[in-house]
Amino acid sequence: MNIVQENFSIASFLSKEYKPYLISGPCSAETEEQVNETIDQLALHVPQIQVFRAGIWKPRTRPGVFEGVGEIGLKWIKEAALKHQKPCMVEVANKSHVEAALKAGIDMLWIGARTSVNPFIVQEIADALRGINIPVFVKNPVNPDLDLWIGAFERLHKAGITQLAAIHRGFSSYTKTEYRNKPNWEIPIELKRRFPQLTMICDPSHICGRRDILLKVAQKAMDLNFDGLMIESHIHPNEAWSDAKQQITPLELKALITQIVFRENKILSADDDNALIELRSKIDRIDNYIIELLSERMTISEEIGTYKAKNNITIYQPERWSQIVDRMLKIGTENGLSSSFILQLIQQINKESIRHQTQVMNKKDAL
Ligand code: PEP
Ligand code: MN
Repeated sequence: MNIVQENFSIASFLSKEYKPYLISGPCSAETEEQVNETIDQLALHVPQIQVFRAGIWKPRTRPGVFEGVGEIGLKWIKEAALKHQKPCMVEVANKSHVEAALKAGIDMLWIGARTSVNPFIVQEIADALRGINIPVFVKNPVNPDLDLWIGAFERLHKAGITQLAAIHRGFSSYTKTEYRNKPNWEIPIELKRRFPQLTMICDPSHICGRRDILLKVAQKAMDLNFDGLMIESHIHPNEAWSDAKQQITPLELKALITQIVFRENKILSADDDNALIELRSKIDRIDNYIIELLSERMTISEEIGTYKAKNNITIYQPERWSQIVDRMLKIGTENGLSSSFILQLIQQINKESIRHQTQVMNKKDAL
């Protein structure tokens, strides 16, 4: 089943009155008072919030730490949200979570990053939800695998769940970065390209893992045309039982939202007499030029391939590769391009070049 062809309109369960769609609440429900006070303050200071959230069962890396209050917390979040006539959502990670959440009247569910990674569990959740058309938000799997993320949507959709939305919460990585989870923005962008109907929510809290860069990531998500934000909030963030470093108070959330610049996704037509049209045609010309140059470069690679085949020389030569990288990094940074961009660019070019050389060298007549 192709979920694009199903033409489901995911945004229907989120009110269009405010954009961005805002989801907030504590990382974890800790006590009834903490849930109540957080939700009350959020409702007071950030009335744009459409859905309140709280984690009830917490997937933690190591055992022996706080793993969520469990079922009792469902009542707390439901009652706190109901008081403000808003829906609430919790994370479900297996069939019994789904059953308990539905029994408690929870309005929406989300599937966490450590669950969307596992097709068996996603299937178990989808089966438990068969016949119940509740909105389900699917966080990206922890590893940067777009197909796995899409697979989770497909499993849910096959079970009849059509109210689906994506939450981009970043991807874990071995390399240390300023983020807790690397955003890899190209992955949610590609998801949206393939499924244009899908509502895309960004979760800056889990991307950042810290408060000071939340605004930067939230702004970027808005500039990339995400539909909404999920941001964790706590009345006393420093004392939170989970994710203390990234949570903010309801008042801080209000300040953050106020600082975001909301820009329009204006589609310009060819008749628009607009400087942007002119600039875009310049960009298109340059892009064409880049492709032509790359193609020319590949033709030369093939000639090198023929030469190497005749002279029995390996395709990959570490010394030559180091020289290319050093030279490109030097001229790239001299021209205002970041070294990480240059490195990725030259790696991709080299990969394509090796593909061309391999084809040439393995042709019988090249030998
Ligand atoms: C959460 O939202 O609190 C959570 C556990 O998120 P993730 O699955 O993205 O780690
Ligand atoms: Mn959290």
